[in-house]
Amino acid sequence: MCIFCKIVAKEIPSNAVAENEEFYAFHDINPKAPVHVLVIPKAHFDSFKEIPGDVMGRMSTFMQETAKTLGIDESGYRIISNIGEDGGQEVKHLHFHLLGGAKLKWGHFADADPKDFI
Ligand code: AMP
Ligand code: ZN
Repeated sequence: MCIFCKIVAKEIPSNAVAENEEFYAFHDINPKAPVHVLVIPKAHFDSFKEIPGDVMGRMSTFMQETAKTLGIDESGYRIISNIGEDGGQEVKHLHFHLLGGAKLKWGHFADADPKDFI
C-alpha cells in the first residue's frame, strides 16, 4: 500500500482539512507556503494521467470547497500536480498541491534556459 493510501486508511497520521467519501485534504508535512494542503482521491491513481474525467470533475469541486474552507478563496491560490519524472513527482498517488496564504513567487521551473528551446 502506498504512503497516501496508508494516510487514507489512517495507518499513518495526518492533519485533516476536509474530507468526503471520495476525497481527502490534509496539510503537507513540509509546507512550501503559509497554506500548503494536499488533496487526494481516496482511491489510488498513480498520477493525473490515470484519473477519469468524471472523478476529476468532482475533485475540482472538492478543491474549490477546500480553498473556501482554508480561507484562501478570495485572496487566491495555486494548484499544482507533479507528474512523473520530469514533473518531479515523489509520491506515486495522485495529489494536488493547494498553495496560498501569501503572494506566491513565479519563476523558471527548469535548470535549462527556456530560451534555448524557442
Ligand atoms: P510530490 O513531490 O508532488 O510527489 O509531493 C509529495 C508531497 O508529499 C511533498 O510536498 C511532501 O512534503 C508531502 N508528504 C510526504 N509525506 C507526507 C506525509 N506523511 N504527510 C503529509 N505530507 C507528506
Ligand atoms: Zn495510494
